[in-house]
Amino acid sequence: MSLAAATKYFFEQAAQGLDLEPGVKQMLETPQRELLVQVPLVKEDGTLEVYSGFRVQHNDARGPFKGGFRFHPSVDLDEVRGLAALMTWKCAAVNIPYGGGKGGVAVDPFTLNKRELKQLTRTFVSKIFPIIGQKVDVPAPDVNTNAEVMGWFVDKANELARDDVRGIVTGKPIGIGGSLGRTEATGRGVALTTLRLLKWLGKDPTKMTVAVQGFGNNGSWTAYYLHQAGCRIVAVSDVSGGFGNEEGLDIPAMMEYCKTSDKHLLAGYPDADPISNAELLEGKVDILIPAALENQITKENAARIQAPIVIEAANAPTTPEGDAILNERGITLVPDILANAGGVTVSYFEWVQNLQSFYWDEDTVNTHLTNIMHKAFDDIWNLAKERDLTLRTAAYTIAIERVVEAMKMKGLFV
Ligand code: NAD
Repeated sequence: MSLAAATKYFFEQAAQGLDLEPGVKQMLETPQRELLVQVPLVKEDGTLEVYSGFRVQHNDARGPFKGGFRFHPSVDLDEVRGLAALMTWKCAAVNIPYGGGKGGVAVDPFTLNKRELKQLTRTFVSKIFPIIGQKVDVPAPDVNTNAEVMGWFVDKANELARDDVRGIVTGKPIGIGGSLGRTEATGRGVALTTLRLLKWLGKDPTKMTVAVQGFGNNGSWTAYYLHQAGCRIVAVSDVSGGFGNEEGLDIPAMMEYCKTSDKHLLAGYPDADPISNAELLEGKVDILIPAALENQITKENAARIQAPIVIEAANAPTTPEGDAILNERGITLVPDILANAGGVTVSYFEWVQNLQSFYWDEDTVNTHLTNIMHKAFDDIWNLAKERDLTLRTAAYTIAIERVVEAMKMKGLFV
């Protein structure tokens, strides 16, 4: 099933219980606007490459469209559409005043040098500029786009706007309007969510074993904060392989190792045993955290997952078929739209700071993040208990109700 179809499937599972008018349902199932652009690049050897670029605006009933853009060869309209809808539901689930959008360019950024990548970014900005804006649609980093790329983005946007429009994109470097705490925010949010779940389940974090798939921005900070809370992280992986240690991995040492290792990967890290991706996902741990890629828990492996708790740090790591099997087996799953919402929440704080030209200290950022994540978790947890729903369906239910309410208030269907 495609990513857009999977997001629609989870939406429909919740929509069934909500008695939505068919027209309203149709408005929520389809994006408000889709833009496809040509992104030409003259490379330094003189050859011309023409890439496809996308920006999908799913829904802006609750505020500006919000969502990152990625540079990856697999980017296509279907993927961007699914991720844009996921952003609408994520922002509404944690109650921040944004809608959902997503973008990308179908390019392998590792085939370009830095100057070419900068030129590609600037051309992409000029192509999507007619439909974005500080109060309209606010992009951010995603796969293979980082703070440096956001710096290039804001410079081109300022030039086109002939104004300082730094709030047009989030995830910027601190010196040009980024927020303290943004880099760690997604992993911090995943850890906050995990610890909140353990609290309501009456489980002691210091007795928990954890496996984390992916050791990039999200996975490494997730592992770091759970390690700090006393959990035993027994397995992590990245694209270079899996690393296990029953005694518990030294996560700060692994993060330090990646700062200077080849391509910042874990390959060659000494104090761990090699394990396979399947061993990581299917190993005997208390908590499994997929934090790398889409479609990792599927109908093929869901029956073999041994962890009684799954926290979706990545976007869409579980397919609908995999999700159904986990549910049948009584596995508690915290969905992506709740678990990884810490990133967009601190992006929201960055935007607020940009619009006010008043910058917060890191404690203020983290205190607000903790409050928002705890409130969102508790609302979703309580609804799930009250109506006997999965946490995913409860999260979608709350999100859909908020978006429909906003559409109603704006008179979009009367
Ligand atoms: P990243 O590029 O920093 O890290 C991705 C990690 O996954 C890397 O360690 C990479 O080596 C690893 N990986 C890739 N293929 C793998 C494989 N086959 N097996 C094991 N590991 C593999 O990206 P990120 O920002 O950490 O994003 C990871 C996930 O989190 C994505 O689904 C992303 O959409 C989601 N997410 C990220 C943020 C954020 O703020 N960074 C926010 C919300 C959601």
